[in-house]
Amino acid sequence: MACWVKPENMQIYTKILLGMTVGAIVGATLGPTSTFLSHDLYKIDDALSVRLFLDQDNPASAIQFPQGTPIDLTILKTNRKTLKDAKGVESELAVWAQVELEYTKTIGLRDKTGTLRKALGGVATGDTVKVWLQIQNRRLEEGGFMTTPTPISGLGDAIISWTSPIGEIFMRLIKMVIVPLVFSSLLVGVASLGDIRKLGRMGGKTLGLYLITTALAVTIGLFCAHLIEPGKYIAEKDRAALQAKFHDSAGAKVDKAAEAPSAMDNVMDIIPINPVESLSSGNMLQIIFFAILFGVALTLMGVNESQIVVTLFDKVQQAMVLIIHMVMEVAPYGVAALIAEVVGTSGLSVLKALMVYSIVVLIGLFLHATHIYGGIVRFMAKIPFLPFLKAIRPAQLLAFSTSSSSATLPVSMEVAEENLGISNATSSFVLPLGSTVNMDGTALYQGVAAIFIAQVFQMDLTLSAQLGIVLTATMASIGAAGVPGAGMVTLAMVLTATGIPAVGVALILGMDRILDMFRTAVNVTGDLAVTAAMAASEGEAIKLLTPAEDAADPDHGFEGRLEQDEAKVEPE
Ligand code: ASP
Repeated sequence: MACWVKPENMQIYTKILLGMTVGAIVGATLGPTSTFLSHDLYKIDDALSVRLFLDQDNPASAIQFPQGTPIDLTILKTNRKTLKDAKGVESELAVWAQVELEYTKTIGLRDKTGTLRKALGGVATGDTVKVWLQIQNRRLEEGGFMTTPTPISGLGDAIISWTSPIGEIFMRLIKMVIVPLVFSSLLVGVASLGDIRKLGRMGGKTLGLYLITTALAVTIGLFCAHLIEPGKYIAEKDRAALQAKFHDSAGAKVDKAAEAPSAMDNVMDIIPINPVESLSSGNMLQIIFFAILFGVALTLMGVNESQIVVTLFDKVQQAMVLIIHMVMEVAPYGVAALIAEVVGTSGLSVLKALMVYSIVVLIGLFLHATHIYGGIVRFMAKIPFLPFLKAIRPAQLLAFSTSSSSATLPVSMEVAEENLGISNATSSFVLPLGSTVNMDGTALYQGVAAIFIAQVFQMDLTLSAQLGIVLTATMASIGAAGVPGAGMVTLAMVLTATGIPAVGVALILGMDRILDMFRTAVNVTGDLAVTAAMAASEGEAIKLLTPAEDAADPDHGFEGRLEQDEAKVEPE
């Protein structure tokens, strides 16, 4: 059977998909939470959160650390006892674990007599010492125990720490292109429009459509959450356990949300004081603002005067595009590493507790993508929906694996121009704007999360409170940055604004990273659907590039772009 496709003949999205699959398998089987490996390591972010003793029978032998010290503890043996939970059910649980700890300068002993310090004798920095870790088994009123800390696989942890730099390198490579690409292509796009009114019209329509789709997304989220009522499916025991486990990190998100600037500050912040600083810090809205004004100024100068600048930036843009193509060559390896890390470090126990909630988010995202984007693509962009989805696959897969619409932006722009045939003027304006302000998946998920948390806390939300959620979630998704987990911070803002306890964020934090992948893919799909609609409304004819055309023409699409010969370039 000749159904085996050679790697060099595979299309880019197939290679990325393959990378994702390999990553998922490696993460699930060889990751820190894998059930196939023995769990022999406690990885503690802050040593203050655990109790360590030199001698388990002597409370005075407690070992102290400065706040924020991360420690790894390899398990040597565990002492177990039969304990009864609040309902009288007995289970055998670890109460002490003898662990190996690396001795560092920062370890102190609460030891007034000096005998314990003596017990450690000639231990030098870098040596390992055997100490006892007290396991906390908190009885839950609802039955069962909440056990902290929980061990992971040391081998899995090592494997992920070897693979994760590959993902990080890939992320940095694509992020590297964002600022020069957006700036140069928007500048050239605006200059080539030659019509300031057209830009204003397109800006108004784009923002309008972005806002409408986002408000619809929250509404769909609310609707699904009311229909299925995920809050009713969470067991009391799981609720308490989730709250206890994620309490601290949820508090950090709530604090961060409280620091958010006001709406007026946000509007003001679009105008850069120093555009060079905006470029160097990657502040997208400021970059867009400056590039538009720069482009407009060039059109006012007249062709003879400004041609040289426009040509220069056009060439810069073309070079950036080629960098993206180079980076995409390594995308399969990068996404494999990114996915392995997410799958390998997300414990499945959380998934079980939050199963119904996660399903509601996914149903909502699916409905939004198929109906709202399906409608926009079919009726506004006037192209069939499935071929559209096929054409944008590289961007969707990248959004899914990176959980970042900003990082996906260079590829979204390339997909819009090459695979959909949209003009640079439209894509360079609509997409960077979308990657910052349009996050339908995020908004929808915030709608579901708000109702879910309210249901768990048995709060009845009035109609006006729910309208409040639509409004604040729409605004919050505009303010959210296109980076992993941004939606979670702004969710805390939505909850506070609508009077739902923001600590409820702890309930859903465990599933956030996985759901982030899906909502980011939807965010990017939304940006591209609106871009196609805007192009059509400006009279452009959208032309989907077929895989055969892509393969045949190295100058277009994702296939064969780097096959041209390099040439020596010398100044004139
Ligand atoms: N990760 C999302 C994005 O980049 C934002 C979020 O929902 O957290 O689009």
